[in-house]
Amino acid sequence: MNSIKKINHDIINCKKCPRLSKYIREIAKNKVKRFQKEAYWGKPLPGFGDIKAELLIIGLAPAAHGGNRTGRMFTGDSSGDWLARVLFQHDFANKPSSEKVGDGFYLKNTYITAAVRCAPPQNKPTREEFENCLPYLENELGLLTNVKVIVCLGRIAFDSCCKMLEIKKERFLHGRKIKYKNFVIISSYHPSRQNTNTGRLSWKQWNLIFQKAKKSL
Ligand code: SF4
Repeated sequence: MNSIKKINHDIINCKKCPRLSKYIREIAKNKVKRFQKEAYWGKPLPGFGDIKAELLIIGLAPAAHGGNRTGRMFTGDSSGDWLARVLFQHDFANKPSSEKVGDGFYLKNTYITAAVRCAPPQNKPTREEFENCLPYLENELGLLTNVKVIVCLGRIAFDSCCKMLEIKKERFLHGRKIKYKNFVIISSYHPSRQNTNTGRLSWKQWNLIFQKAKKSL
């Protein structure tokens, strides 16, 4: 029988994608200068949050020096900073920063997961890696029985969500809201530096995504 504990155990020990398994270990070994003194997680990353959550957030994959370092999704990098701040603003988190495991940060009525659980080179998982990881997402959703709203961060997360729910012919568009069965699915640009530093995703646009999510609960 599945439980979050069992899924998380399976994720952490997963080696289905040789390229990614090798890459995350290498990153953990060859650290960047600023994190030289830290022990990297360097393993596939499970989701985290409230298993009774009504809000599910799906990201792309852990960041090489973010989640792959700290051992928690969206923790210890700039995407995590944006996410923690906006979640706090809408009362989905107890504080506005998520820096490391043991920092006291927790989610309220929210669960965070990702389409792919190992940090991929250049943030680009292959089609096969994406397919390999999808069952973990399906199993999680099967256990998160209160989920009403799914926020997908980026096209890959959106595609994973559509595939998981067998939604066909829907296109990713920032700010789009789709109603499907018992779910409201909202898609957003990913809060990566590539988007936030270039103005592709402004704070105002980002904040509106979570306003919409809150209203849809
Ligand atoms: S990406 Fe997913 S399926 Fe591939 S090795 Fe990591 S946890 Fe396993």
